[in-house]
Amino acid sequence: MMATSGPAAAEFVLGVDLDGVCGDHAAAFRAVVAAEWNRDPESLPPQETWNFHEWGLTDESFDELHRRAILVHRIFATMPPVEGVAEALWRLSDAGVWIRLITHRLYANWSHAVAVGDTVAWLDEVGIPYRDLCFLGRKPEVEADAYIDDAPHNVVELRRAGNTVVVFDQPYNRHLDGPRATSWAEVEQLVTELRLAKGQAVQERLGFDDDLFGRLRTRIPAPGRSEPSDSSGDRG
Ligand SMILES: [Mg+2]
Repeated sequence: MMATSGPAAAEFVLGVDLDGVCGDHAAAFRAVVAAEWNRDPESLPPQETWNFHEWGLTDESFDELHRRAILVHRIFATMPPVEGVAEALWRLSDAGVWIRLITHRLYANWSHAVAVGDTVAWLDEVGIPYRDLCFLGRKPEVEADAYIDDAPHNVVELRRAGNTVVVFDQPYNRHLDGPRATSWAEVEQLVTELRLAKGQAVQERLGFDDDLFGRLRTRIPAPGRSEPSDSSGDRG
């Protein structure tokens, strides 16, 4: 397939949300709020609501803290990845799934350069493969065969428009019907089932070595290094 072409008709396009699906936004935001308030992160109760009302945040204070989280604490560059995300997306990509990342990170008008730059740097650092990266406004739909998202409003809007959406399990979306995945292993399984249901032949992966991070690393020489590093290098 030519690198410049879009997905072939037979290809399965998976629309993948970032925050709360690929990246542990709640953990990153907890660390920011704890630092801003000079509190122990563990003293903040678990997130239950979409905008952290259980921490006493109003919509206004949430917006201000989130602005500082992005611009001062740079959470889009430092957010911990959700366990298993890069490995699962590499395996799906190898099996013929077109990975289309979708994010709503440009919801404020003061940080686009930081938001976009930190996001793409983070994706390389974590080792997440993708063919498209979509920074979208309100409309969540990008012509994917299936979506994975955690935000209740996105799931509802996408399904209302007739799309297949896997809910990535979070405390604030438990009221939504399935399909639901509680881990990236479950996402992989559900996507494989969806492809089979569409009549797609799902290839077994060939016996490539499984150093999936190393595979990405070998294409990105470290700064100051002219030759690609070998795949045994550390990820630090
Ligand atoms: Mg999300």
